[in-house]
Amino acid sequence: MTRLLIVGPPGAGKGTQSTLISEELGIVAISTGDIFRANIKGQTELGKEAQKYVDAGELVPDSVTNRMVEDRLTWEDAKDGFLLDGYPRNRTQVSAMDEILARLGVELDVVLELTADREELISRLVKRAETDGRTDDNEDVIRHRLEVFDSETAPMIEEYRQRGLLKQVDGLGSVEDVNARIMQAIKSS
Ligand code: ADP
Repeated sequence: MTRLLIVGPPGAGKGTQSTLISEELGIVAISTGDIFRANIKGQTELGKEAQKYVDAGELVPDSVTNRMVEDRLTWEDAKDGFLLDGYPRNRTQVSAMDEILARLGVELDVVLELTADREELISRLVKRAETDGRTDDNEDVIRHRLEVFDSETAPMIEEYRQRGLLKQVDGLGSVEDVNARIMQAIKSS
């Protein structure tokens, strides 16, 4: 298992689990959200372009995001494997991802979907807003990110299910329990 995607709604715990999976499998974890936030903090050209979308809970335009991901996946540290968190997020990005992988001459092994009910997601995001200070963790933006997930990302997850790549994992419970479920799902795929 060397090339994985982790998908799921905001607040499902993708970032936390990505760190653990990356250590366990010895592959780099790449989060598009983290890359955008780092670039916004550093006020790079990419950051300036992305900021208004991230702050509003909108998807950053595909042209910008696709280019950024392709560039990142060609780095040396991703040559032998990667776990990608936060991409693809809509059907256009799935097509772009297919093209990127074809150009790299590699294939995905598994797509992990972390699930959690809406109430749990909102309560986790509200809690995170108090501790992390992410500018997109306020109530209106949280609601909008969940809407974008329902309208754009959920249909793209279906695409991976049809391809037989999807493994659903229950994201409720302790970090350790969820991680154990994920490792089990990876082993069985
Ligand atoms: P969450 O999934 O908890 O909302 P992320 O850190 O994954 O948080 O993403 C934060 C923001 O970064 C998104 O709301 C969006 O503006 C931007 N972003 C991240 N990944 C993508 C992507 N694949 N395409 C477009 N925008 C993205």
